[in-house]
Amino acid sequence: MVNADVQNVLGKSDKEIFDTQDAQKIQIADKVTVLNAKVSTSERILTMKDGTLKTVLATKGPLIDKQNNVFGVFGISRDITNQKEYEHFLEESKEKFYNLSHIDKVTNLPNRLHISEILVQMCSQEAPFCLVLIDLDEFKIVNDSYGHRFGDKLLFEVSKVLMEVFDSSAFLARMGGDEFGIIVSSSDKEELDVLMQKLHSKFSNPFKIDMIDVYITASSGICIYPDDAQNMEEIYQAADTAMYNAKKFGKNNFSFYSAEFKNEAVAYTQMVTNLKQAIQKSELELYFQPQNDVHTGKIIGVEALLRWKHKDAMIPPDIFIPLAEKSGLIIEIGDFVLKSGFEKAKSWQERGILTSRLSINISARQLTHLDFIVTLKNMLQESGCEASWIELEITESSVLENPELVISLLEQIRELGFSISMDDFGTGYSSLSYLKNLPIDKLKIDRSFIVNIQDEPKNQIIVKTVIFLAKELGIHILAEGVETEEEHTFLLQNRIDSIQGYYYSKPLPNDEFEIKLFNREASL
Ligand code: C2E
Ligand code: CA
Ligand code: CA
Repeated sequence: MVNADVQNVLGKSDKEIFDTQDAQKIQIADKVTVLNAKVSTSERILTMKDGTLKTVLATKGPLIDKQNNVFGVFGISRDITNQKEYEHFLEESKEKFYNLSHIDKVTNLPNRLHISEILVQMCSQEAPFCLVLIDLDEFKIVNDSYGHRFGDKLLFEVSKVLMEVFDSSAFLARMGGDEFGIIVSSSDKEELDVLMQKLHSKFSNPFKIDMIDVYITASSGICIYPDDAQNMEEIYQAADTAMYNAKKFGKNNFSFYSAEFKNEAVAYTQMVTNLKQAIQKSELELYFQPQNDVHTGKIIGVEALLRWKHKDAMIPPDIFIPLAEKSGLIIEIGDFVLKSGFEKAKSWQERGILTSRLSINISARQLTHLDFIVTLKNMLQESGCEASWIELEITESSVLENPELVISLLEQIRELGFSISMDDFGTGYSSLSYLKNLPIDKLKIDRSFIVNIQDEPKNQIIVKTVIFLAKELGIHILAEGVETEEEHTFLLQNRIDSIQGYYYSKPLPNDEFEIKLFNREASL
């Protein structure tokens, strides 16, 4: 009997206690007990006479006389309604807690913890599968320019695209930041190749967020279990390495893991560690190369070019600058270049050696870093250098990545008194027409157009057009990498303003350069 209220049940039959239908069911069950002559325990939800529901744990058994005949049924019932409710509450709380710790709030996708648990589980089974890691290219710029809420909306839209491409058998997760992880139950490279192409083609369309069209691409790395890696950590590592390999090929690419990457990854990590120490160990040093007036040969500017002397070897900037950009070290290294450059400019100006500007290269990542303008202001103050002694060189590609943001930054930089030159012009595949919108003072035509220009009719047309346009817009025009008399003559005849190249001087270390500067200044 139900123990809730003894008075309500004592001396009463099932019909008087329970709802008629349930009372009948109990009677049938009792008959079964008589027939089977066995003790059994079961949990039932019963409706009471007053309509309330009770969960009851009932043990029923046959009453047997000395001759082994069944003459009745005994029953012990316990009201376990409260216990059941508590168990249910516990289950629900567990589920809520599980969701909180396993689901990403921005995308509603499982999070890193969740996918990691699944990966561990899958590694304990034999079946092959693959992990795809997807990293959005330049997501930080979107976040920095439009704010975090906007960035979150974009992540949500990206998660929808992933759900479109991968069917419900795939396990999708947001790993954190701008990274997604997907477990696909296939190890067939051809099949995966098709899937990945489909995914990356989706990124050629813009995402519409708050009425704004945002173009964003992604880089993906794929690791196949058990061929490429055997446990969760190795899988993450391999997929990550493959993803970085994809980034090397430019944006919106994907790459399968290859064992060769491992050696490269070790070498990469080693080089990043070395580069990190390079500043403290004073292995970084600025070299200087003059920019000369094409008619008089007079120095109209000097470019500071960074050198890394590591264990008696000279590592070229074309190698370590991209490495610094990728690893984020460019901010620290860029600060070193700015600081050393500002100090040098001040010293040269005060000693009367240089009357024009010192050019300092600024990488895209450095320019769009949140603190860049503040850093410039602080460094001017700390070094005592004047902004009018410095020119900042930015590349065409850093403008193209985010024109609106970069133009606004360049305007602020100019307001501080710096002048701006556009480096490597012609390599960024940009349209000439956007030049008029850029707040720049100098255009540097890339060396690739200048090499043997006297024999390259197509390059001649490009260079002549760019010179013409720069003159129209009132921008100073310089040719980079001029080495020979022929190149010099062609550029002189076509009204270039100035030249930077081995024709006048290679980049030189400070002491040599100062001697050269003194001499040249003295001879003019
Ligand atoms: P860049 O800014 O285009 O610098 C010009 C490069 O052309 C320099 O290479 C210079 O040595 C080289 N060069 C100049 N004249 C000639 C010539 O007549 N013939 C040839 N063949 N080359 C010439 P460098 O010093 O190896 O620097 C390579 C690149 O590394 C630079 O290209 C620049 O993009 C980057 N870089 C150098 N220093 C820094 C720095 O402090 N910060 C940043 N962000 N990037 C830097
Ligand atoms: Ca430069
Ligand atoms: Ca250049």
